[in-house]
Amino acid sequence: MAKLLSVLVPMYNEAEVISIFVDTLRPILDGLPVDWEIICVNDGSTDNTLKIVREMSAIDDRIKVLNLSRNFGKESALTAALDHARGDAVIPIDADLQDPPQIIPQMVDLWLAGVDVVNAVRSNRDTDTRIKRLTARYFYVLMNAISNIDVPQNVGDFRLISRRVLDVLNSMRERRRFMKGLFSWVGFSSANVFYERQGRAAGKTKWNYWRLWNFAIEGITSFSTFPLKIATYCGFMLAFISLTYAINLTANTLIVGTDVKGYPSIMTAVLFFGGVNLMFIGIVGEYVGRIYEEVKQRPIYILESSTGFDKNSN
Ligand code: UDP
Ligand code: MG
Repeated sequence: MAKLLSVLVPMYNEAEVISIFVDTLRPILDGLPVDWEIICVNDGSTDNTLKIVREMSAIDDRIKVLNLSRNFGKESALTAALDHARGDAVIPIDADLQDPPQIIPQMVDLWLAGVDVVNAVRSNRDTDTRIKRLTARYFYVLMNAISNIDVPQNVGDFRLISRRVLDVLNSMRERRRFMKGLFSWVGFSSANVFYERQGRAAGKTKWNYWRLWNFAIEGITSFSTFPLKIATYCGFMLAFISLTYAINLTANTLIVGTDVKGYPSIMTAVLFFGGVNLMFIGIVGEYVGRIYEEVKQRPIYILESSTGFDKNSN
């Protein structure tokens, strides 16, 4: 029996681009030496996305639809697709054709040759602004320096993952999902395929700097406790400096007396230590908040309905 490849597509307000996307993807999949299915996840779109993918599913039963009860975000939408994929390998891909389906055959070849994870590495970031490129680069340097995983630069969620890697991934039910980190964390043999990243085929990006910033915090807090350690070492250092200063002050007062000066130094110390304290309470808070979310054990996504899946595989 031929192997099955599942292509997973999270979609949030992608009505404008879906038909171009599927028309590009389908002939490529048809040319592969494996069977395929496309799992479209409608992540609470407010446009016609759901209607369009349902119509496609009605015509071609290899196109399947998961409809989430609201917008859960790309990571959760992708998780829904990973859970429902029946393939011997899966490829998550964006709906906007920024991840070119043209390299899928190369990825599949490597998989059939025995590789477990095939990363799609973008060889340019021309479509991103200078600032975005720069911040991205520093983020990866920082991330890899302070965590014990190695997140490859210029690799998005677009990659091929074999079944045994997928099973491990699916067993990790954390609510806060930094997918790139999880993909790297599981390990296994990997290979790279390179591509040029294009601009969006149509529609608008859902990312902005605030989201990216939060994404970065997510990555760091999910895979590193280093920020918590900074507090400890800063604390030690400041305590040491304070002690030296206190000894100095006491000695001075004892030897030469004092004529009540020092308002500026007291204010400086109070404000500085106040600021440092608040900052680290904030960092601890980031972690506590995440622990809170994890212990509640809420589902990662809620399925409103699904189309095209047979009953026994839900
Ligand atoms: N997406 C999603 N839920 C969201 C935001 C985005 O499922 O809340 C999907 C979106 O439809 C697309 C992919 O995630 O298929 C990437 O989104 P986008 O192209 O906006 O991000 P960018 O490529 O600009 O990083
Ligand atoms: Mg995009």
